[in-house]
Amino acid sequence: AKEQGKNNYQFYSSSIAEKGARKMELEMALRKAISNNELELYYQPQINIITGGIYGAEALLRWKHPIYGYLSPDEFIPIAEESNLMLSIGEWVITQAFMQMKKWERNGKKDIKLAINISARQFQYIDFFSFLQKEVQRLQINTAKLELEITESIMQNIEKAKIELNNIKRLGFQISIDDFGKGYSSLSYLKSLPIDTIKIDKSFIDDISHPKHKGSLAKVIIDMGHNMNFVVIAEGVETKEQFDFLKNHACDIVQGYYYSKPLPPKELEKLYL
Ligand code: C2E
Ligand code: CA
Ligand code: CA
Ligand code: CA
Repeated sequence: AKEQGKNNYQFYSSSIAEKGARKMELEMALRKAISNNELELYYQPQINIITGGIYGAEALLRWKHPIYGYLSPDEFIPIAEESNLMLSIGEWVITQAFMQMKKWERNGKKDIKLAINISARQFQYIDFFSFLQKEVQRLQINTAKLELEITESIMQNIEKAKIELNNIKRLGFQISIDDFGKGYSSLSYLKSLPIDTIKIDKSFIDDISHPKHKGSLAKVIIDMGHNMNFVVIAEGVETKEQFDFLKNHACDIVQGYYYSKPLPPKELEKLYL
């Protein structure tokens, strides 16, 4: 079945046993993905809603599997997380994004922010901070333009998260809360943590077109974010209707297919930098 490509394979893998087999197979292949040069970072532009100019970009991981082609991070990151592979993949992502930023700086490209996704497990690894610190020094990185995207799930241990985030802030990084509004029930953590940016989860953006909800929660999140002096980014913006709504409600930054899908670095350069 494998040789017949992705769609056929998915057909055959419908049983639980086959799903387990695919998972194991992917895990084995993923172990070699870094050394085989199969991982890439794509970059999705983030647009300033007022000027229409580029504000930054989010680095998004792509795995070009030798047989199945490009696989979605939603499929392989959970596998990497379970097997601790995420530690080395996460470090690869950080180093790669740092080097890309340096390259853009060196070539006199436009000054933009670069956002890097950090999984909860990765954030909680004991040597996450020391790796960050080491890479910042080794590559002489201007951290002010780098933003680390974390999710609300790290708030499970709020005291620990606070210490870690304060250390990261001291290195100069910006901190962004990804998928904001999706995960956690309590908002009280927002006051005690050094947060710069919140990214409204796509589900609230989808709701803008909902006949009854009409984006009411997106509006609440934007207002709350501004009251707390956060930069507010809307992600998964796909339509003009959503864009107009966000502009009317003074959201700061938009990201989504309405402007652009994630692009290989060369494409982003050509179109935006
Ligand atoms: P995320 O961080 O919430 O990233 C946004 C996802 O939405 C990306 O999917 C992006 O391609 C997609 N997207 C952007 N605009 C639109 C839109 O207008 N409509 C729709 N339907 N989707 C849009 P992607 O690249 O497949 O990544 C999925 C998830 O995998 C990410 O969600 C993130 O949680 C994770 N991920 C990706 N790269 C990394 C990474 O380097 N490290 C870690 N830890 N996780 C990553
Ligand atoms: Ca993200
Ligand atoms: Ca997100
Ligand atoms: Ca997500």
